[in-house]
Amino acid sequence: MSSNFHPDGTLFIVSGPSGAGKTTLINRVREQLEPIGITLYFSVSHTTRRARTGEIDGISYHFVPTAQFESMAARGEFIEWAFVHEQRYGTSKAEVLDRLKSGKDVILDIDYQGARQIAVDPELKPRSLNIFIFPPSFDHLEQRLHDRGLNSEDEIQTRLQKAADEIDAGKEFYDYVIINDDLNVAAECLKAAIIAKKLQTKTALEAITAMAERLKEERDGRFARGH
Ligand code: ADP
Ligand code: 5GP
Repeated sequence: MSSNFHPDGTLFIVSGPSGAGKTTLINRVREQLEPIGITLYFSVSHTTRRARTGEIDGISYHFVPTAQFESMAARGEFIEWAFVHEQRYGTSKAEVLDRLKSGKDVILDIDYQGARQIAVDPELKPRSLNIFIFPPSFDHLEQRLHDRGLNSEDEIQTRLQKAADEIDAGKEFYDYVIINDDLNVAAECLKAAIIAKKLQTKTALEAITAMAERLKEERDGRFARGH
């Protein structure tokens, strides 16, 4: 673990249109940051949509009936939730808050409506970073949605129709925008944004004070020993 990264919990929000490459980038970046001491816990969302083949409850999503989702929302158990492609999706407090409090970093893959809710939350905003993943072009987006093979032609057309509006609606609250053209370059950019934020949290007064105290103790110990 590198001592460069002060263990403040940060909430990394990755959003962008369906097919832009969020899942691919998050997986890659989590794997590549782990060896340098940044562990990103992936927050598993709740959704009312049905599981696709290969998706596992509790790992891909918490798949819940609409009534359960609604009562969770009514009890205030989500930090954000939204209708996305006619289904409900939400990030539960249970997935995020205790981890942040205990100094862990959490990464979310959510839509722009959820990102906006967090961007105006006075508690979460200061400890979060909003990153928007942008496709290189409309054609690329369409191609990727087809190649991924997860959605029907109708679903692909709905996702494409919404993409331009999502990009427009999100533009005022994103901290960083990354164009996912070449996957390696985009992954490097995402890592750079995350690392920069981790270094920035180190400048929090508390962290600097603790470090200054430690340095003073080390200095005093050394001089007391006559070096
Ligand atoms: P999202 O999570 O944003 O919906 P995915 O990560 O599932 O998007 O990516 C959609 C498809 O595009 C996947 O098949 C993925 O392998 C592919 N993909 C992602 N990034 C790139 C890229 N830079 N170049 C080419 N294909 C990509
Ligand atoms: P999919 O059903 O294809 O997995 O996801 C559809 C969209 O829902 C994606 O854009 C994804 O980012 C978004 N999404 C997933 N989880 C959440 C969540 O907890 N909250 C919000 N607002 N959007 C989510």
